[in-house]
Amino acid sequence: MLSEPVLVLNLNYEPINVCNARRALLLIFRGKAEFLENGHGQVRSVQQVFDLPSIIRLVYMVKRPFVKRKLSKKEVLLRDRHTCQYCGHRSKSLTLDHVVPRRLGGGQSWDNIVSACIPCNHHKAGRTPWQAGMALRKTPKAPYPSPYYVLHGRVILEEWKKFIPWETD
Ligand SMILES: [Zn+2]
Repeated sequence: MLSEPVLVLNLNYEPINVCNARRALLLIFRGKAEFLENGHGQVRSVQQVFDLPSIIRLVYMVKRPFVKRKLSKKEVLLRDRHTCQYCGHRSKSLTLDHVVPRRLGGGQSWDNIVSACIPCNHHKAGRTPWQAGMALRKTPKAPYPSPYYVLHGRVILEEWKKFIPWETD
């Protein structure tokens, strides 16, 4: 139970991290965070019973520079929400496609790399979308550095959702 995930909010209620319940309890005991919501029942020590938090809030403001995302397959798939940018198919086995093929001068950059399903990638082959008669569903670009970045690719518990405005993503 102490390894259950806990959403950590900044002083201003912005999600800042996810830690486990053990670390969350330590932060509370040390006066660094307050208990905001119980999600996982209780835990017993020799003398006491503690409520296990599901959400805690730091009692001080943590300043974070928004992390610039590094170009990688994982990040491109996240940006594209695991959706083929040509046909819109969602899949766990997507490939990366250079929009303008490298041999035609296309770069290794956010605006030239998209997620593509295997059939689309095969069909497009070494051509530009225009040559292949294919259209991108949206213009690829570097993902905006989001404060909710820490939550990408994680399981989001139901009670966390009120603190996570996905539309700002
Ligand atoms: Zn496709």
